[in-house]
Amino acid sequence: MARINVLPKNIADLIAAGEVVERPSSVIKEFLENSIDAGSKNITVEIKNGGKTYIRVTDNGCGIEKDDVRKAFLSHATSKISSADDLDSISTLGFRGEALASVAAVAKVELLTRTENEEIGVSYKIFGGEEVELAEAGCPVGTTLIVRDLFFNIPARMKFLKKDVQEGNYIASILEKIAVSYPHISFKFIRDGKLNFSTPGDGDLKSAIYAVFGKEYTEGLLPAEYEGNGISVTGFTGKPTAGRGSRSGQHFFVNGRYIKSPMCITALETAYKNSIMVGKFPPCVIFIKLPFSAVDVNVHPAKTEVRFFEEKKVFDAVYGAALNALTLDTRPKASFSVAKAFMPEVVKGEQLKISETVTEKKDEVKFEEEKKTVITEKTEAKAPSLVTPKPETVVKEPISTKLTFNSREAQTLDFLKDEYVNKNEKQFNISINVNPDASSTEEPKASKTEVVTEKDEEVQIATEEATPVPDFRIVGEAFKTYIFAELENKLLMIDKHAAHERMLFEKFKSQMKSFQQMLLVPVTVSLSPDEYNAVLENTELLYKAGYEVSDFGDRCIKVSACPTELVDEDISAIITEIASYLSTNSKTVMPEKLDWIYHSMACRAAIKAGNTTTDIEIEKFVKELLSRDDIRYCPHGRPVMVEISKRELEKQFKRIV
Ligand code: ADP
Ligand code: MG
Repeated sequence: MARINVLPKNIADLIAAGEVVERPSSVIKEFLENSIDAGSKNITVEIKNGGKTYIRVTDNGCGIEKDDVRKAFLSHATSKISSADDLDSISTLGFRGEALASVAAVAKVELLTRTENEEIGVSYKIFGGEEVELAEAGCPVGTTLIVRDLFFNIPARMKFLKKDVQEGNYIASILEKIAVSYPHISFKFIRDGKLNFSTPGDGDLKSAIYAVFGKEYTEGLLPAEYEGNGISVTGFTGKPTAGRGSRSGQHFFVNGRYIKSPMCITALETAYKNSIMVGKFPPCVIFIKLPFSAVDVNVHPAKTEVRFFEEKKVFDAVYGAALNALTLDTRPKASFSVAKAFMPEVVKGEQLKISETVTEKKDEVKFEEEKKTVITEKTEAKAPSLVTPKPETVVKEPISTKLTFNSREAQTLDFLKDEYVNKNEKQFNISINVNPDASSTEEPKASKTEVVTEKDEEVQIATEEATPVPDFRIVGEAFKTYIFAELENKLLMIDKHAAHERMLFEKFKSQMKSFQQMLLVPVTVSLSPDEYNAVLENTELLYKAGYEVSDFGDRCIKVSACPTELVDEDISAIITEIASYLSTNSKTVMPEKLDWIYHSMACRAAIKAGNTTTDIEIEKFVKELLSRDDIRYCPHGRPVMVEISKRELEKQFKRIV
């Protein structure tokens, strides 16, 4: 290492000022950075009482030359930079020359060091900034720093320290991050006499992560890589099923330095949007490498905040790496131990649901029989189909025999037809069929006209391009909720609602405007003033989502058209829900609002657990599902499919061990 110089005042003043030593963990951080800068391969940290009474950091780095020892404890004394220009491209972790001086000012510090050029080392003691001893001492090459009784001379500062456990946890947290960011260095952490962790230092990131964060954390990771725009990203991000309840498992590093960056978090979480459960956060250990001149690390004295000169590029790199990781995700495996833990509750829940459905169905039949009307047909058609209808089947047969309109309704119908055809001449085909002789008991909800957009063609193409489907066999359906299929040597279990919901979500998104169906009798929805205004401000957005809405006056909104998939749903409730969302999220960006609307649409339109599905529908549905790589999680992040291998089943039945 170069010789130590005291920086001239004009350079020193350029460096972000601030307290270096706030608590024991800040001492550890500074010392570890010095050990790493010194090229150490082994670093041991020992603490007692959360580091308040005792800290020892031992390394086998280059050591400090005898003649430099005193100087190292002077303010702004550093061997790492010597001119203002060096500040523009900092490649070492330390550069301010403040740490040793600051720590020595507020604690009892002992140093033991030797370089490989020297036969004998140095022992130096400095208490509260006062030199106590400088003597020769026998020691191995490297440096040991011991800090006793931090803040012994500033009782006021000592009072601000937390309990030993908490201070110890701060230290552990810093050490963990540093240990995983230097997998080629072996770190040992001893806390109150017990070994907390020890990394192998074999250069393998995964083994460092394993040593520090444990088995479960490591098994939930996917490799994440990205290269472009002079930025490289390496590391790991979590499988969506390994989402955690907080962001504490997210670790970002820039050029080897741990950083806090809301921008990086956003980039990561944007990639996981709709793949991870709401309220869960993807873990990650991500290393961003970019030219030293593209990042300013001199923003904050604690040095965890950085400023990127081209934020967008860094965002894209992190986002890209996370997306790449997600493509490597495989179907979640069914876990027998987890299933056991949840079994009683799940079974109870399902039984309840089924019996409810059966009772409902019975009532329906009775009602239908009593009335002997066409309602039976309508009720059955009401359960959404799992199978994406072919474009030509989207236009349902006009239900002329079942509809009736009084003269006013017929006028509205004519008026709507004219208005719609005129406005959307190129975009829609309309077929309307009116039979004034039909029964008058029919609900207005059934009086609808089918309208299909030109987008049909695109959908057709997309289906044709889907990946080939491997041979599978439907085993059956359980609890009217889970479809079982045999595929190669695996048994697949599919949650039909979750899978269908995701499929519809993707469909809505890809079309940007869903199939739209015009309502013969428009629905009027009465809203609160805020909701009413929010809807009127977002008519464009709603049109994109498949709804045609207009002002009906007196805080009422007229809905003239809705997405085909939602035609049997309660339009008024849907619009009220959207209106409430729009009024409370006025600042949210447009794509996010649309996403939310698609999401709620998909959830409503998807087949529900408990709905009856025919064998043919199941067959077609699974075929489509297996041809789509993008259908892995429902928009809430729940898996749509889990698998068990034949081997695993054989193990469960003790056919093999
Ligand atoms: P900085 O790290 O900003 O240069 P410090 O006050 O932390 O400032 O350290 C002052 C100097 O002491 C460093 O520049 C380095 O030359 C030397 N030094 C400190 N710790 C070690 C160590 N563990 N091994 C070798 N040299 C060290
Ligand atoms: Mg330093």
